[in-house]
Amino acid sequence: MNCRTFFSPDKTSYVLFTESVLRYMYGHAQRKWYQIEAGGEIYSPTPYSSRLLVDAVVGPHPKDRRSRYGYNPDVNAVTKARNVQYERERHAIGLWHTHPEPRPNPSGQDKKTTEEYLHAFGNDRERYLSVIIGNRGEVPEMAVWSAEKCGSWQCWTEFHGQLAVLPGSPSERAPTHNRNGDANGNPE
Ligand SMILES: [Zn+2]
Repeated sequence: MNCRTFFSPDKTSYVLFTESVLRYMYGHAQRKWYQIEAGGEIYSPTPYSSRLLVDAVVGPHPKDRRSRYGYNPDVNAVTKARNVQYERERHAIGLWHTHPEPRPNPSGQDKKTTEEYLHAFGNDRERYLSVIIGNRGEVPEMAVWSAEKCGSWQCWTEFHGQLAVLPGSPSERAPTHNRNGDANGNPE
């Protein structure tokens, strides 16, 4: 298993999910007919960077509203979990959940929920991610969308190559001139 990277449509931003975060989410994939949707929040040490690293994930919580075709997080539990992550210098940048379909896409309700979270941050977030895990294959299909402050929705595209500079590497912490040119790598 590996990390996975998704680029914003204009290729100016990317989000990289660590292997352990992916493994956690895959563990809730709705592979069996009786499995209900699961989800929670995803966290990054660099919530304002155009190079987002997601290295922490939580959920589901006991009082979430969950069914085969629906997931709505328990707001109190999410707030509590968010505070715990904040103490670890991890900041919420989006929601994740599972869908009982091979190629997941956000539903109208998913978009509404994500927008509510984004608005709750006021001026503290420019966007909020919606990550959805499909239900087929050893490495399930994964959808990454973002609710933008301007009201639009963007579909992020998976990048299958190697990045020149990974988030959290020394050059990310202390930005200097990058000898390799394009720090974002070269998305397909
Ligand atoms: Zn959904």
